[in-house]
Amino acid sequence: MKTVRVRFAPSPTGPLHIGGVRTALYNYLFARKNNGTMILRIEDTDQARFVEGAEKYIIESLLWCGIEFDESVTVGGPHAPYRQSERRELYKQYSDQLIVSGNAYYAFDTPDELEQHRKKAEAAKKIFTYNAESRKKLRNSLTLSKQEVEKLLSEDVPHVVRFLIPEHTEVVMHDIIRGKVVVQSESLDDKVLYKSDGMPTYHLANIVDDHLMEISHVIRGEEWLPSLPLHILLYQAFGWESPEFAHLPLLLKPDGNGKLSKRDGDRLGFPVFPIDWIDPVSGEKYSGYRESGYYPDAFVNMLALLGWNPGTEQEIFNMEELIDTFTLDRVGKSGSKFDPEKTKWFNHQYLIKKSDEAVAEEFNQVLKAKNIEIAHGKLVKIVSLVKERVQFVKDVWNETYFFFEAPQTYDEQVVKKRWNEQSPEQMKSLVNLLETIEPFESAFIDQAIKTWIEETQFGMGAIMNALRLLLVGAAKGPHLGDIMDIIGKEEAISRIKNGIERI
Ligand code: GLU
Repeated sequence: MKTVRVRFAPSPTGPLHIGGVRTALYNYLFARKNNGTMILRIEDTDQARFVEGAEKYIIESLLWCGIEFDESVTVGGPHAPYRQSERRELYKQYSDQLIVSGNAYYAFDTPDELEQHRKKAEAAKKIFTYNAESRKKLRNSLTLSKQEVEKLLSEDVPHVVRFLIPEHTEVVMHDIIRGKVVVQSESLDDKVLYKSDGMPTYHLANIVDDHLMEISHVIRGEEWLPSLPLHILLYQAFGWESPEFAHLPLLLKPDGNGKLSKRDGDRLGFPVFPIDWIDPVSGEKYSGYRESGYYPDAFVNMLALLGWNPGTEQEIFNMEELIDTFTLDRVGKSGSKFDPEKTKWFNHQYLIKKSDEAVAEEFNQVLKAKNIEIAHGKLVKIVSLVKERVQFVKDVWNETYFFFEAPQTYDEQVVKKRWNEQSPEQMKSLVNLLETIEPFESAFIDQAIKTWIEETQFGMGAIMNALRLLLVGAAKGPHLGDIMDIIGKEEAISRIKNGIERI
């Protein structure tokens, strides 16, 4: 294979959707796997769609995911600058080159005129396209006289440069994922390459830069497949060898009905962005995976498997393993349904793989925010009791708050079901028992209670359920012996006495 150089080329028109992150990831995996170079190029030639803060957001998101660039707007590189707006001078000569070679032409139609044509076509239930048919009747350098064109140009009359789609041509393309794709040139329109504002369009800048930056493989979303014929024709017009192409399948909504869109996330209750995004104009907030408590490696693992399969049953892959295993020929053709539950499952897998100490360390931040201090050893023990039950570190609190504070209320349903006339007396007698247990540790507590219940014939269920209600306030939590061991004798007894009073 030729030297691999791939690029991720986002337009800073808003936050990066997870589909975009996946595109970046596949480029990264492909580059690393093939000892290639990974490039970040910012495609900001469409000034009307430029969004403040989007570039920074994109870079921060990819950094969070662990996707690194060898050449980029931040690290530089041999083909700098990597921001297209800073390369604007460069594109004009390529546009001129196509005019000279007869592959492009000047078009002077004003936006108003084009709108008129569109309306007229619409009235006749047709769609207006600037193509081989219509270009013969429009105001361009193909229909106007040479003198007239020169006059308009010398007077700086606003104009664009359009690509001249060749007539009766079969455009044959090869896509690594889709195989051979053939399109008739009649179905294509004469796209604008160079705009009246002195900026290239995406199409021109993209091809010129891919060529100059020696890109070997273009790996991008399927939404760009319709542009491929034009891109292939552009390479031919310039006389350049084209890179290889791989168009990735779409990410679909969880029900499979249509593309996963920016709006879906908060509407369906899961993030579709890697990190939080606040719209700079409306101030609206869109939630991200980072702030929702996901681990970046779990997020990346989940994304990698949305569209690619390793060909085995293995589901958990760290970045190194992904790099080792990834190949484009295992990327599917059809769209992949996004599965929010599976995404949580991935996070859970990564969480339980961590040591109790590591999770305790993270959970300690949650406690600190609540001004709760606790000995490290105790905290590790608490975490070890609930780690298997949670998907996120932030959920640890819900499973453990009763270790840190006595119940404020008692679940009414449980009171109704588990608290009866004998309960107060039984619990008082249990207090007497607890007083005598030494050392006050889980195994000793269990043993003492067991013997006591056998003697008193109170019944294990009745005692344990009532006791749990007094210690926790609800019918939840880990083993009671463990809870009492951790909160200590004094606290356990005080909760029981308090509970008897209050229920
Ligand atoms: N700037 C395009 C985008 O925003 C890049 C498409 C491509 O990779 O060619 O997706």
